[in-house]
Amino acid sequence: MSLPRRRLLRHGLRAGLAAPLLSPRRAAEAALAPLVMIDPGHGGIDPGALGLDGTVEKIITLATGFDLRARLLATRRYRVAMTRTADVFVSLGERVALAQKYRASLFMSLHANIFAEPAIRGGSAYTLSAHASDRLAGALAKSENGADRVAGPKFQHVPTQVAEILVSLVQHETMLGSARLAEHVVAALGRVEPLLVRPWRQADFAVLQSVSIPSTLVEMGFLSNPIDAANFQKPAFRASVAGALTGAIDSWFATGGLARVAG
Ligand SMILES: [Zn+2]
Repeated sequence: MSLPRRRLLRHGLRAGLAAPLLSPRRAAEAALAPLVMIDPGHGGIDPGALGLDGTVEKIITLATGFDLRARLLATRRYRVAMTRTADVFVSLGERVALAQKYRASLFMSLHANIFAEPAIRGGSAYTLSAHASDRLAGALAKSENGADRVAGPKFQHVPTQVAEILVSLVQHETMLGSARLAEHVVAALGRVEPLLVRPWRQADFAVLQSVSIPSTLVEMGFLSNPIDAANFQKPAFRASVAGALTGAIDSWFATGGLARVAG
């Protein structure tokens, strides 16, 4: 369901107009704002990239994640959850599972990179590669209740061939949503910092493997670059990046978010 329709229902419910048309459970779901899952990369025993001037990726991703959460909540348009809110280790599988459990509308993983060449700097956004997603869809369709998990309970116990079609339909939609999300992220980041050459990239990152939740992994900058490393230690710069990501999420939802065909 698109955001405008959700808003319509919510306002209708407040005015007492839509209430007789919806069951209590459907009404409660319609009244909920979409949930954004923020995933601050690394944590605990996994520090992530160790950059110049003592910068540590896990600290920068968490600080930016808190800032992003505050900004998203301030819009009053979203519910927000985080895969971690402290310096603790959370496995990649648990991060994806948390997004599924919370029925997130969007998953954004925050990272900062390092590279052997210190001159390289700037932001980029990753989505799952088509090769990786094909492999996943095949495995999921064959797994027990795969179609049920992805497309909804009404597709429980369907034959494997049907499950494959359902999973690939949902996955195709999700990948389009992820690609649009990455486009919005790149456009917004480009207004506050330089971008990497080809700033939208595709890779087989494990945290991008949700079949049904549009997901992107944001490499916010390079801690091996002196300018990026200095910038990410400044709260004001992290705030500008969090502001850009909030704008990207806003424009993604405002231009349709993800309209579901199944489920
Ligand atoms: Zn990372």
